[in-house]
Amino acid sequence: MPRPHLEALQLERLKAQVERVYHTSPFYRRKMDAAGVKPGDIRSLDDVVRLPFVTKEELRRAQEEAGLFGGYACAPPEQWRELHPSSGTTGRSVYTLWTIRDVENITDFTARLLWGQGVRPGDTIQNAFSYGLWVAGLAVHYAANRLGCFVLPIGATQSGRQLDLFLEWKPQVFFATPSFAMYLIEKMQERGIYPEQLALRIGSFGGEAGAEVPSTRKRLEEGLGIDAYDLYGLAEIGPTMAAECTHKAGLHWTEDHHLVEVVDPETREPVPEGEEGVIVITHLTREGTPMIRYWSNDIGRVVREPCPCGRTHARSPGGILGRADDMIIYKGVNFYPAQVENVVRSVPEIANEFRIRLERTAHGRDVCTLVVEPAAGHAATPQVRARLESLLRDALGVGLEIEFAAPHSLERTEFKARRVLDLRAKAAS
Ligand SMILES: [Zn+2]
Repeated sequence: MPRPHLEALQLERLKAQVERVYHTSPFYRRKMDAAGVKPGDIRSLDDVVRLPFVTKEELRRAQEEAGLFGGYACAPPEQWRELHPSSGTTGRSVYTLWTIRDVENITDFTARLLWGQGVRPGDTIQNAFSYGLWVAGLAVHYAANRLGCFVLPIGATQSGRQLDLFLEWKPQVFFATPSFAMYLIEKMQERGIYPEQLALRIGSFGGEAGAEVPSTRKRLEEGLGIDAYDLYGLAEIGPTMAAECTHKAGLHWTEDHHLVEVVDPETREPVPEGEEGVIVITHLTREGTPMIRYWSNDIGRVVREPCPCGRTHARSPGGILGRADDMIIYKGVNFYPAQVENVVRSVPEIANEFRIRLERTAHGRDVCTLVVEPAAGHAATPQVRARLESLLRDALGVGLEIEFAAPHSLERTEFKARRVLDLRAKAAS
């Protein structure tokens, strides 16, 4: 769709959505009244900045005060179809809800994103996204059905069985978190399975950043014999609302359903196009629990120039660069765990898994240690250590302490990995 048409559609949907939440949700009416803004004040897409942000903390509080959906559910119970709480990794989970039309829309735009990655009718899909309350498993399942694919709905479990399915059923498409895929690649190597024995063509990775970290993408692609693509979602917004196309030129947003802004984390004002900031998302079509200017806490940038694939939907090149609260400040330098990940996985003698440990000494000095393991068939030599140190210093602008752990001693995960251990606050309290 040409951008002027797309933006006209977005405006029409935004106006209707704001009107609707104001009249059906006590939560939004209270917020808008407090901000002194009425639905009629939204006359252009730029007017969206007049609306107040919604944060996860605020949703949690609203749930505690007003029960269940905290006054932000906008559809009558007879239209409810699915409940999807956030995973609760950072506190009490926040409930979101899909109506029948929400399920329809999610299925539709997810199918479109999968098509953009080259998934076609007749493909066999091994879906190792967790099924159940977590949003991504079902969304991919529905979308695969919509496209006319054959699904192996294994979920995020049983690594041995995953490999058996690869060999027996020869799926062409695989969905997983990057962490779980890395773990399966290690298991394949242990069992002596080569990527040439599989029929995989496409890997689509979500639940955490990783597929767009260059050295991680390379390890996924070589380890499974695939093209690896990034797929992005958030429980509160949608499981699969942005994805890379075959040009691997960043996450394409589903802009007909989501209005995307990038704002400065400090001033909370929009940043110029293409600059980094916090991604803020507004549901244009969601009925169940619509989010208006949801503060994702994820850092990225958005460009609107056309992609070589021909799609006009805006993109986030490099994907999600980090969580705003994951940013590490060490010796006056800021960096994200993804930058460390990129260095770790660019060194062939180092295994995939790592930890970043932050501590404060008795003298109040901060120490940041990177814990890594030697890769299979390699040893923790002084040469490897020196190379890792120098690559880290170049990439981050600050040196980290290096600690070698025994092979396979760092825990592997089937879900989302937590690789940063910050012990500084504990020491201080
Ligand atoms: Zn594209």
